[in-house]
Amino acid sequence: MSTTIERLLIIQDRDRAIARLTRESQDIPARKQQIEDRLKAHQESLHQTQEALKKAQAGIKQVEVEVESRRQKINRFREQQNLVKKNEEYRALEHEISVVQEEIRAEEDRELEFMEQVEQNRALLAALEADLKKEDGRVREDQQVFDRRMDEIQAEIGKLQADRKALAEQVDTDWRNRYERIMAKTGDYALVPVEHGACGGCHMNLPPHLIHDARKGLTSVQCSYCSRLLFWRP
Ligand SMILES: [Zn+2]
Repeated sequence: MSTTIERLLIIQDRDRAIARLTRESQDIPARKQQIEDRLKAHQESLHQTQEALKKAQAGIKQVEVEVESRRQKINRFREQQNLVKKNEEYRALEHEISVVQEEIRAEEDRELEFMEQVEQNRALLAALEADLKKEDGRVREDQQVFDRRMDEIQAEIGKLQADRKALAEQVDTDWRNRYERIMAKTGDYALVPVEHGACGGCHMNLPPHLIHDARKGLTSVQCSYCSRLLFWRP
């Protein structure tokens, strides 16, 4: 294998590592955002439960006010009953009282419903708060893991780029340009091995003279289909 091919293979290896790390770093902000969104969704359901609890508690207070005003109404009817002379007037008031008592019972049924809602929402709230506390801790940890990974990636990319630059300086400009052109076009490999008589990049069967040249270790053997540089893997 020619020295040029050997050097280009190392450059290719560095370039592929840089590309892989770059892709990974580009994914990190979206992954951090996903975690934030999950936490926000939890906070939102906690907030909704708090609102539902407040509503049910306000409902109970409202019912109590309603019941109290109806009790006073009944008291006034009773006072009137003491004053009336005729039986039918007395019975009419008795009827009014029973109507209001019925209303009180309806209010008390509503109060029971509100009480149940308070109980349910309180239990839910306690569970959500405990969950959120755990989730919050996990989110901070995950974010730190991502931040540390981001720093690592940047440091690694910096090292690889310096390494690659030093290597590239040892390769003839023409070859370097050819490598860059093929790499830019294919986006994966500029150099591929001959594999079972086919190009290791596009997998087309190669004409025998190309296989022969690659085997001899010539540098300028290019696949006639995809233009990738071919080398013979010993
Ligand atoms: Zn090919």
